[in-house]
Amino acid sequence: MLKKDDWRLLDDVEHLKKAALTPTDGEEISNHAPHLKRCKFCLEPVQNTCHQRWFVTLDLPYCICETCYKDFNEDFEWRKLDGWDIDWNRK
Ligand SMILES: [Zn+2]
Repeated sequence: MLKKDDWRLLDDVEHLKKAALTPTDGEEISNHAPHLKRCKFCLEPVQNTCHQRWFVTLDLPYCICETCYKDFNEDFEWRKLDGWDIDWNRK
């Protein structure tokens, strides 16, 4: 069960359950999907660096930071894809 008292879950995130996530990094997001600016959960800003790991949903409306990925992975039953083959041009 989701811990609803976690402030990061106050936003509408139910639809992210069982989403397929692709691992990437801050540099990739900055270059290819600059509209993704913050973690959907904790609002951590995306930084233009390859040292910051991120997970994006397949159609790219959201990105999730590594910390939140670890914290919520079990609750949300995410599927982690092999990654790096993101179709960045899809809207
Ligand atoms: Zn986060």
